Amino acid sequence: MRHKIRLEGFVTPQDAETQYVYLPFEMPAGARRVEVSYFYENQVTGAQETHPGNNIDIGVFDVRGAQFLRGGFRGWSGGARNGFFIERETATPGYLRGPLQPGEWNIIFGCSKISDPVVRYRVNVDVDIDPLAADGAAGEPRAPGMPRIAAAGASNGGGRWYRGDLHAHSEHSDGANTVDEIVAYTRQVGLDYFALTDHNTISHWDDLARLNDGAPLLIAGEEITMYGGHANVWGLEDWIDFRGSDSEKVQQLVTDAQRRGSLFSINHPDSPIPWLHPAVRGYEAIEVWNAPWRWFNEPALLRWTAHLDSGERMVAVGGSDSHCVPPAKMTQPNGPGEPCTWVYVEGPLTQRAVLDAVASGHVFISEEPTGPYIDMRADADGDGVFEALPGDALAVAPDALVRYRIKYRGPDGKHLRFFGKRGLVHEVTAPAEEHDFEFELRAEGDDYVRCEVRGFRGSPERGDVVHALTNPIYWGAW
Ligand SMILES: [Zn+2]
Ligand SMILES: [Zn+2]
Repeated sequence: MRHKIRLEGFVTPQDAETQYVYLPFEMPAGARRVEVSYFYENQVTGAQETHPGNNIDIGVFDVRGAQFLRGGFRGWSGGARNGFFIERETATPGYLRGPLQPGEWNIIFGCSKISDPVVRYRVNVDVDIDPLAADGAAGEPRAPGMPRIAAAGASNGGGRWYRGDLHAHSEHSDGANTVDEIVAYTRQVGLDYFALTDHNTISHWDDLARLNDGAPLLIAGEEITMYGGHANVWGLEDWIDFRGSDSEKVQQLVTDAQRRGSLFSINHPDSPIPWLHPAVRGYEAIEVWNAPWRWFNEPALLRWTAHLDSGERMVAVGGSDSHCVPPAKMTQPNGPGEPCTWVYVEGPLTQRAVLDAVASGHVFISEEPTGPYIDMRADADGDGVFEALPGDALAVAPDALVRYRIKYRGPDGKHLRFFGKRGLVHEVTAPAEEHDFEFELRAEGDDYVRCEVRGFRGSPERGDVVHALTNPIYWGAW
């Protein structure tokens, strides 16, 4: 038996200001499958920034309600699909399978772009009802699978740098591949850990849990995808809301992430989707390197160093933001691991260990999993033990000499530049593909030292690019 619900109406540019529109409907008792399709006028046919028309995203909340932070989230596909279905045992990627509890559900529209004064829409909700099902066969939707927190990497006792990627997408949002295809690719390129961060959903976690049985260690992530900026959250145990429609709500999301022990990192903050919430505080990291090093990463680098120069300790991370791997058509030039975010972990490689390393700033970034590799350490007390890694803070006496030791593995001829609050404090051009060296700097007040490896990719006229960069080693009288 099929029960048909038709939701018709219109949205206006005022709706785009409040961003989200809710269309309640009644889920009948005995529902075994719900299938939703939607249509609206003058849909954009290309990138919404450059093409005329309207763009309406879609998702759904179940009987548990649609309230901010605590809604009964059941799925989101943004603008990637024209419809979806949910059953108890399966669902369209991006949506959470489980029981279809009777009562009020809500379609959510995200008004991404409304150009016309009035945009009419129609939503078809078709529900298959099993007449034999006990009525009100309710129950909580099955929680999506959690990736097991497994020891996937051997420890060498003293700790080492592990390669990974913190940002990528699958068919569970707007990516081209299944989770299986992406994880197989990350194995091929030798990643030790990998976070899949589909937009606004966690339906990909089931596959991560199934595949998390070796290298790479798979990490549960979600990219909070707001109309005023994107942010990755890692280490969640359940879905986190994405409806940060103003800075006050975004601040609540940051606080919510912290309360759950997860990490919040603002993504590609200057372009292509700028971060529009300068007043929000308390997030741990900034993605200064999104996709291959390009012009739009330079302002992100400046944004990060402005935080450092103001005395704030902020962690720089990279993210491939990969949306495709073979055999899918390659619509972007890089895959997972490009760039590669290296984390320093002692002991077993677990999700918690990776996230603790990120939170501590024990991180450097290189353009590929093969490098360049840059291990920077510091010795503050002159005992010959280089105890400090990037992210660490040294307590030093005023005017003390701090000694730095660098191990570089990468192309020769590249420029290793060291920066602090005073600007450029040291520079070395790598004379060989393996170059170990030390230098000293006098500590003056609270400061830091970080390293950037630059050179040309292609012709010099195209300008130089960053091949690798480290987080800072801080010092001061703390
Ligand atoms: Zn993004
Ligand atoms: Zn992304």
